[in-house]
Amino acid sequence: MSIIIANWKMKLGVNDAVSLANDLKKVSSNQNELVVCPSFVSLVEVARILKRSKIKLGAQDCFWETKGAYTGEVSPVELREVGCEYVIIGHSERREHFKESDKMVHQKIKAVLAAGLTPIICVGETFDQRSQGATDYVLIRQTINALEGAEVKFGKRIIIAYEPVWVIGTGQAISPEQASLAHQVIRQTLFDLFPAEQVKRDFLIIYGGSVDSSNVSSFTRLDNIDGVLVGAASVRTQDFLALIKSV
Ligand code: PEP
Repeated sequence: MSIIIANWKMKLGVNDAVSLANDLKKVSSNQNELVVCPSFVSLVEVARILKRSKIKLGAQDCFWETKGAYTGEVSPVELREVGCEYVIIGHSERREHFKESDKMVHQKIKAVLAAGLTPIICVGETFDQRSQGATDYVLIRQTINALEGAEVKFGKRIIIAYEPVWVIGTGQAISPEQASLAHQVIRQTLFDLFPAEQVKRDFLIIYGGSVDSSNVSSFTRLDNIDGVLVGAASVRTQDFLALIKSV
């Protein structure tokens, strides 16, 4: 079984998000876990539609404080209140456009865990970092900085999304073998941080970066790829339905 997480980014308004959620709900034969992450403004409406379905709801970001004078921010507690179970943290677009640091990512993860939600923690190298042979170093550093010192209870699911920044949104994924190597590095780092039993049972490592219906199964068939994070293809209804079918 794989987990498929849809990151709708800022690509769908409320009406389009509602319409896509309705289409997804009709896919009753899905054996896999499906999580959709609409923008903040669509969460309440999409939650209403997905209420009696197996599809779970996630947000694309959150703040690390619970309540207070933080204009424009949304707390994990508020996300839980509207029905979210998952939150994407540290997406490369946030790291790039909003200068989110590893420290901020760590604070957000702690807040998400405290609120009882599951973080989907994004890590990944840029093209320059890969060219310089620094991929493993970046993955190890981002994973450690994200999770070291966070209190992760036994049985609490954590998702790490390996997303090579340089292939996101390009339509050209890396090879499943390259992804698999990166996943090994991340898993090994997790073994240094948490008990082996916990890592094996509670941590999922998924791949993201130009996944679509034509390449998804080449990733999900690999043992150490537990699922996919999908951007562009997840807002194209027919492509996404075909992708879900192919997993
Ligand atoms: C993403 O931004 O998380 C992502 C995986 O995007 P895409 O599938 O469009 O590469």
